[in-house]
Amino acid sequence: MRIVRFALQGRMGYGILAGEKISVLWETPYDGLQNTTGEIMSLPEVTLLAPCEPSKIVAVGLNYKDHAKEIGASLPEEPLLFMKPSTSVIGPDEDIAYPAMSKRVDYEAELAVVIGKPCHQVMETAAKDYILGYTAINDVTARDLQQKDGQWTRAKSFDTFAPLGPWIETEISDPDNLTVEAYLNGKRCQHSTTGNLIFGVFKLVSFISQIMTLLPGDVIATGTPAGIGPMQPGDVVEVRVEGIGRLRNRLVAEETH
Ligand code: MG
Repeated sequence: MRIVRFALQGRMGYGILAGEKISVLWETPYDGLQNTTGEIMSLPEVTLLAPCEPSKIVAVGLNYKDHAKEIGASLPEEPLLFMKPSTSVIGPDEDIAYPAMSKRVDYEAELAVVIGKPCHQVMETAAKDYILGYTAINDVTARDLQQKDGQWTRAKSFDTFAPLGPWIETEISDPDNLTVEAYLNGKRCQHSTTGNLIFGVFKLVSFISQIMTLLPGDVIATGTPAGIGPMQPGDVVEVRVEGIGRLRNRLVAEETH
């Protein structure tokens, strides 16, 4: 099942997408997926928004074996976590603003986990029950600022640095066996599988839940594979995750005031 969040003529809501038809939900997907209003919209008439509104995005640095090899890093013993603020989220086809403060802005194609219910100190074997579904995220990064600062808050947190979507897929049985790709202006620049994850999805949910309570709509960005690289204003970047879909965004130079 695909869950979308949409805007239409000033109204926003959630719905279930089947083909090109959206069955509108009364409330949020966290309140249940059975409660539809009976109203049907068509995909072309709505604007798709980021499919959830996370209170926080918890992201994992260096979580692919191929990426660790690429940068000559040894494999971490525990997940290395950082966060992106809720204000960095944008939806499909929204523009990524290239900040005036940075000279190098990179794409990072990643599988995103969307939490479905409050999740605190859960075991790895129970983690699946707390996941609503999966979507794609581009963990946009000001690489020069990441290196300059020595920690990652500024580099990861600019407004528009967390494109999310296009929808939440609820029927992925094995999240640790999905192809993840990035395309820049139509050319493939990242290609791996979540089979190369150092820490798998259920392990991550369990680990993070030992530290902080994950809330419905919160997102875990599971890390990026080899092949990271820079983008420029005017570029079109696309993240593709097998079984989910394509998340496309354009880069524009930041408007300064
Ligand atoms: Mg990343």
